[in-house]
Amino acid sequence: MNIPQRVFLNGRFMPAESATIPVFDRGFIFGDGVYEVIPVYGRRLFRLPNHLARLDMSLAAIGLGQPMSHARWAEILEQVVRENDDTGGDMSVYLQVTRGVAPRDHAYPKNVSPTVFAYAQPLTYPDPAQLRRGVNAVTVPDVRWSRCDIKAIALLPNVMLRQHAVERDAAEAILIRDGVMTEGAASNIFIVEAGHLVTPPKGLFILPGITRDLVVELARAHGIPCTEENVGEARLLAADEVWMTSSTKEIMPIVRINDRPVGSGKPGPLHARLHTLYQEYKRAFRAGEVD
Ligand code: PMP
Repeated sequence: MNIPQRVFLNGRFMPAESATIPVFDRGFIFGDGVYEVIPVYGRRLFRLPNHLARLDMSLAAIGLGQPMSHARWAEILEQVVRENDDTGGDMSVYLQVTRGVAPRDHAYPKNVSPTVFAYAQPLTYPDPAQLRRGVNAVTVPDVRWSRCDIKAIALLPNVMLRQHAVERDAAEAILIRDGVMTEGAASNIFIVEAGHLVTPPKGLFILPGITRDLVVELARAHGIPCTEENVGEARLLAADEVWMTSSTKEIMPIVRINDRPVGSGKPGPLHARLHTLYQEYKRAFRAGEVD
């Protein structure tokens, strides 16, 4: 794992080893903050306006104002990429805003400046062998809270759920709440039934994934039927194809759930189609042909 060289913290760029956070930062004490992860292709931040709009939503939901304009965010994130990118390769940017430093007390403190942190690192691509073969998943009760739409840094439930999957030789935990699938521990989920794509609707129980939105957009633009509706666990297990989506995993086929094959047990034809459309979109984005 590459440790980033230079990071952004509270208005300044500095070597990662000089960037320190006071122990009373509410991010450290309470997990009181929000974040984003944004891929960078050909030195361009992929779907940046969508990520910043989601950041606005997360900040508003936790009663924090935007610490700066979207234009300023773009400048900082572009600079953090430039400062760490000596090869021109693809990167990913992480940004985090916490409520700042205050004596430990649960309620929001007044007159505190948020802590703003960002770094960039080389992008870890989805493993080509995994893409070819697909990955395993397990279903597990969704024990998280009722504001999963907020991209909160407090990820202990997601960490525990992903660990539950890893201990069962699975790449992802598919979360089930009241008999209905919500999302993965760190991804959104799509199913395919007879050539038709289905993914759960947005709401309080899923993160509105940027990749999810792009997959829905690409499907609709290419005449592939796609609906947003709730999917019960039995329907998930009976699907022809199941995929997980995220900014770093892109569209990853899930070929076994709870040790039983999904459909044929191999990545399906609609996955191949959407994977191609996604790669073509990335190529066009790199070339500056799409925003
Ligand atoms: N759901 C959860 C819980 C996530 O953590 C993530 C991203 N890591 C996603 C969905 C996918 O979101 P995106 O496509 O914006 O990366």
